[in-house]
Amino acid sequence: PDKCGIDKLPQNDYNEIKHVIAVMSGKGGVGKSSVSALVALNLARKGYRVGILDADITGPSIPKLFGLSGRPEHDGNVVFAKQTDGGIKVMSLNLLLESEDQPVIWRGPVIAGAVKQFWTDVAWGKLDFLVVDLPPGTGDVPLTVMQSLPLDGVIIVTSPQDLANMVVKKAVNMANHMNVPILGFVENMSYLRCPDCGKEIKVFGESHAAALTTSMGLRLLERLPIDPALAELCDAGRIENYDKELFANLDEIAKKRVTN
Ligand code: ADP
Repeated sequence: PDKCGIDKLPQNDYNEIKHVIAVMSGKGGVGKSSVSALVALNLARKGYRVGILDADITGPSIPKLFGLSGRPEHDGNVVFAKQTDGGIKVMSLNLLLESEDQPVIWRGPVIAGAVKQFWTDVAWGKLDFLVVDLPPGTGDVPLTVMQSLPLDGVIIVTSPQDLANMVVKKAVNMANHMNVPILGFVENMSYLRCPDCGKEIKVFGESHAAALTTSMGLRLLERLPIDPALAELCDAGRIENYDKELFANLDEIAKKRVTN
């Protein structure tokens, strides 16, 4: 049990999940879901069995990034995670709705309950890594996930813009408060590379990555540019065709639970 006396949820009989990594951000729109997908993709390319639990219940975007739709199968006991073309298992509320534009108008406890069920009532099978895409901020769902799931660590996604604010530090402080190791952070939309001269254009201002590394002792996992090719593939549901090699040592970092 944690310091509030809350036990971790056990794995069901269908599952053997070795490592669980959550992806969080201080605020929305920094590319958290895209980074979750890229983390999963790069682990899968290394030969690991990977799943993505879409815990962003009211703003689920994982199925769309992978072009996944249609109801998952179930056997009366559990719902079977769907599989992308590349073999990544996915569960998201969007797969369970009548239509993908149906809003989820639920109170916090119901939403948190749904996230827990994605762990207890979903057949994921054997996974080396389960990546949990959290909703932005430090609200109900991140709290539920940090309390109820056996997390190996969290990855914090930032943009140069939001590093200037206090939001990243809030996310860091929450993870520390909950005793969840921070594997590192990803600075997304860091710069735009001019296709003509190759110069880095700092669209959202100077990078604060170095400052975050020194002031908070966090490991920089990746600095991603604004990449129109990535945006296009995301929109088309073909993120699995993004061929940049990223997060080279993340598997080792997560296995060792190295915090900085
Ligand atoms: P969040 O989960 O933080 O709300 P998303 O991952 O849904 O953000 O990203 C928001 C939008 O920005 C998406 O349309 C995505 O395709 C785009 N995007 C994210 N990261 C990048 C990037 N590095 N380059 C280009 N587009 C990006």
